[in-house]
Amino acid sequence: MKNRTFLIAGNWKMNTLQPDAITLATQIAAISTEILSSVEVLICPPALHLAPVKAAIETAEVKVGAQNMHQALSGAYTGEISAPMIASSGCSYVILGHSERRQYFGETDALVNLKIKQALAHNLTPIVCIGETLTEREAGLELAVVTTQVKGALANLTAEEAQQLVWAYEPVWAIGTGKTATPEQAQSMHAALRTLVGELVSDEVAARTRLLYGGSLNAANAAELLAQPDIDGGLIGGASLKATDFGTIIQTAFRLSA
Ligand code: PEP
Repeated sequence: MKNRTFLIAGNWKMNTLQPDAITLATQIAAISTEILSSVEVLICPPALHLAPVKAAIETAEVKVGAQNMHQALSGAYTGEISAPMIASSGCSYVILGHSERRQYFGETDALVNLKIKQALAHNLTPIVCIGETLTEREAGLELAVVTTQVKGALANLTAEEAQQLVWAYEPVWAIGTGKTATPEQAQSMHAALRTLVGELVSDEVAARTRLLYGGSLNAANAAELLAQPDIDGGLIGGASLKATDFGTIIQTAFRLSA
């Protein structure tokens, strides 16, 4: 039994039209209250669907979060959304620094750090994504890369702020590729991450911090990954778009938390 509640989070990316989003969210919200009171479940639809999805599911047990946000509060940033907008849509989480944001939109650790501060100021829990590319892993640089990302994300944060973060270790080579980190690879990085948070913040915060694994986590491999002592949940892309697969992952987390 873990001393941290599992968080199972679905990142829908740029998928679903609004009616499909509402159907999917409603199916997930129909999971039994017994399970939803033991496993924290979060769905992150496209920004346009946040408010209607939140309104449709009518249960506070399934949380809704955004996939990204701008670091400014408001202003002339065409096409962007802000932390207060996300919060006012009833969301409690925001994914920040996803590798696709870093890769396709040039997000840096410094930018992710600004976004984290703004999210926290608006009572949004950031899920901060970190992870190495295949080239970096092949060069044995995975821990160095992740350490730089964690340090960048935590820059000038107080311990009180830092303790509110959720981290998602997502090796870039495992995202959307069907290749998963082995349970040993994932556990080893998660243990190193917890040690790092202990050094940079405090051991007490490190013990409580939730570390999610992401990268082709699915209904078939969830049990062996979630059973690892330092894996406290998952950030799930592809498999979160099917209610049955996502439901199986949630049930697996429930079984492992009992
Ligand atoms: C993700 O995008 O965060 C992710 C983990 O995607 P997938 O599960 O599809 O690899």
